[in-house]
This record gives sequence, structure tokens and C-alpha cells, in this order.
Amino acid sequence: MSTDSLKMLPHSWGVLSLSPLCPLQVELHVHLDGSIKPETILYYGRKRGVTLPANTAEDLKNIIGMDKPLTLPGFLAKFDYYMPAIAGCREAIKRVAYEFVEMKAKEGVVYVEVRYSPHLLANDKVEPIPWNQEKGDITPDEVVSLVNQGLQEGERDFKVKVRSILCCMRHEPSECDLGPALAAHLTSPNLPAGAGAAPPPPGIPEPISCTAGLPEVVGPCRDPVQPPVVSERKLRHGVEPFAEAVWLGCGSQDLKTDPGPSVMCWPRVEDWSPEVVELCKKYQQQTVVGIDLAGDETIEGSSLFPGHLKAYEEAVKSGIHRTVHAGEAGSAEMVKEAVDRLKTERVGHGYHTVEDEALYKRLLEKNMHFEVCPWSSYLTGSWKPDTEHAVVRFKKDQANYSLNTDDPLIFKSTLDTDYQMTKEKMGFTEEEFKRLNINAAKSSFLPEDEKRELLDLLYKAYGMPPSASAGMFPSALLGH
Ligand SMILES: [Zn+2]
Repeated sequence: MSTDSLKMLPHSWGVLSLSPLCPLQVELHVHLDGSIKPETILYYGRKRGVTLPANTAEDLKNIIGMDKPLTLPGFLAKFDYYMPAIAGCREAIKRVAYEFVEMKAKEGVVYVEVRYSPHLLANDKVEPIPWNQEKGDITPDEVVSLVNQGLQEGERDFKVKVRSILCCMRHEPSECDLGPALAAHLTSPNLPAGAGAAPPPPGIPEPISCTAGLPEVVGPCRDPVQPPVVSERKLRHGVEPFAEAVWLGCGSQDLKTDPGPSVMCWPRVEDWSPEVVELCKKYQQQTVVGIDLAGDETIEGSSLFPGHLKAYEEAVKSGIHRTVHAGEAGSAEMVKEAVDRLKTERVGHGYHTVEDEALYKRLLEKNMHFEVCPWSSYLTGSWKPDTEHAVVRFKKDQANYSLNTDDPLIFKSTLDTDYQMTKEKMGFTEEEFKRLNINAAKSSFLPEDEKRELLDLLYKAYGMPPSASAGMFPSALLGH
């Protein structure tokens, strides 16, 4: 596929499809904060005195939106432009949720699961406070409540069924911020022998590989000008500060009696992910159906940060459904971690799964659902247009997957863009669209009775008898 032809595909925001390629669609992977109307951003930017990079909705759309591929971190930087206008404002949070439902109704979506990070819209009880906001009084808990209100009002007014998924963020936080500066100190000749090699004291997790920043590094300890800083956060963590320094910085050295040259790295106290799973539990009856892990997948080891592992373990225990962004920019290994360690039930994107045949086969056998976002994969560079798209392989193998927009504001798209792209450039047929939507409904996080209702609605709209579902899965999986 040529990139030129792809450029013709996206719709302008606001030019919504009136005749979707598939009547009644199910969407499982779309971000609330990537689906805001430029007009709404502009409105709240003005109202709240937040500087935006443009003065008209059209200009704003073009600055926030992408026309050609960027790296994933480049794409993630887009949020900096407009999130300060929305985050920390009750009215704005509720309104973007409401308008989201309206937008999906216009696209012909009958059921959608929308995801977001409650922490990224909050300005209180969140550390660090995102988007350089001043501290306010909107907690992640209240964010979920506001989004729920907006979604429920939207459901009522636009007749679209909506559920939500709460996102953990890969970078927030790592259990320790062991970065390059610390690594350099650990190999410094000033450190005593064995530095950094001592096992962690009881009760402290094993050190993990971190590439995040180093907000909590202090040292050397003996420097009279800059004595070690013991932060409030550390005290609340309940870990004796020097114990950590021994563990991470100074090997066998007893820093209580001899605070020698040292760098300390505190585990961060405010762990977003365990709170995310608690919010999932609390709001389970009010639109929330699952947990997700989003953000920059290329942060090394981030699937296995203790906070994320803990949150997913708790989700399994509490019957919270699970999905994970994996194998988008990252390798098949990330998908493996998501499946085996985080016990995910669906894979967000998952394109790179096909690079590991054994894993791909295993996931086909498990009937794992892939949340495919074709247009997004082109613009984020997670799919290289000179190679076969993973979704073509998924189609060939009659795998379980859905088509999704991901971040329509940034990709200047609607769901129709993704359907057009696969139809025109990859030969997808109406039959395949129906099959994938039925699989999306089956893989939704709805309870069984509501899933059945949704499926009946689709079968009816598609003119299919419910028994047709027997042929919807790979033949190897029949009877499972
Ligand atoms: Zn996503």
C-alpha cells in the first residue's frame, strides 16, 4: 500500500459517516481523552484561561491531528497540547464523556467500551499532578464518577450502550526510579566493593530495571552541604530510608553507622495502578467493566513493574476484566508478558504477535481477542506500510479481532476510516466485517446476559440466524 493513497483516507473531523460499511458496529478500543471535539477543547481553554496552540477549532484540529506517521512517544506528546484545557474541570470531564457517546451514535456504533486514565484527568490525590496543573480538588475517584454521569446521560440520549475501562499508565509509577545517573553511581570507583549487588532487605521488592527519571536521587550522604533528603513520601512508605540506600546504592555497607558515598533511590509511594483496580471495583455497577495498561510500551520492563502486577493480580481476584496495550510499538515479548504475567483477556493492538509463530498459534488456540486499530497503527508507525499488516494475517486465519479508532481526535478519523482502509486496501468484505463485529461482541466485557442481547441485536441487523455464530471462530476452536 502506498502512503499517498493512505493520505486520502481520513475524514475530517465532523464529516461523519452516514452509511457505515457495516450496519451496527461494536468498538472495544477507543480512548476518551483521544476522542474530544476540538470545539470543546477550545471552549474550555478560553473559559479556564489555558493557552492553546490555536484559536479556531479547524487550526486546533490540524495542530493536534496527524497526517503522517510519528513515533509512539511523538504521538503521546500530542496530549500535552490540549489535556490542560480539560483535566481538573468537572464540567469539561462530564461533557467530553457525553459528547463521546453522541459521536459514536453518529458513527453507527451500537456498543462501545471507552477507556481513560482517571489520574490523567485529576488534579488532587494524584502524584505527580499531570499536565503541570495547579493542585485542585478533583480526585481520580471523582473523575470516574463524572465520566460515568456523562456516559450514562449520553446512553440515555443517544441510544448507544457504553461501558468504560480504566487505564493504568505504564510510566506511573515505576516502583523505583533507577535511571542512568544512578547506574553510573553504582559503578563509580568511590563506592565500596559490592555496591548495588546486595540482596534487598526483607519486605523490599527486588530491584527492577527502570528507565524513568530520577526525582528522588540524593547523595553523597556524607556531603555536609547537601545532606540526604528524607522526603515525606518515603516516610509514608514505611521503609527505613537507609535500608533502601544499602539495597540500591551501597551494597554491604552499613549506612546507619557509616553513611558513605551513596545514591538513594526511593520507591515511589503513590502508585496509580493499585488505585485504578480499586476504582474498577467501586464503580463496577456504573459503566466500569475492565482495566487496561496504556502508555509508552517501550519503557523497559514496564509490564512487570510491581504496581501493575499487583493491580492485575487484584483484578483477577475480583473478577475485573483485563486488557493490555501490547505488541503495538513493542515486541511479541510484550504480548507474552501481558498474557502470561498480567493475565490479560484481550490484547490492545498486538500486531507484533505474528512475529512469534509459537505465541501467535497459542493465542489463536486460546481464541485471544486482538483490538486492532488499523489507521492508528499506520500513523503511530507501529505498522510499516511496506509489510503485510497483522490484521491481514488475522483475517486469513479467521482470528478473533475487532476494528477500532483508538484516538480519533489525533488521527482525524472516524470508525469508518478504519473500515474503509481495510476494505479498499486490504480487501475486507462485508462478511468479514460482520464476523469481526460478532467476535467483538463476544469478546466484550459485558456480563453474559447482556452479551447475548447484544449478539441477538447484531444477528438481526446482519440478517443472520443466531446459529451462524458456530462458524465465527477458527475451526480448530469449535467446541471450546
Ligand atoms: Zn490505545
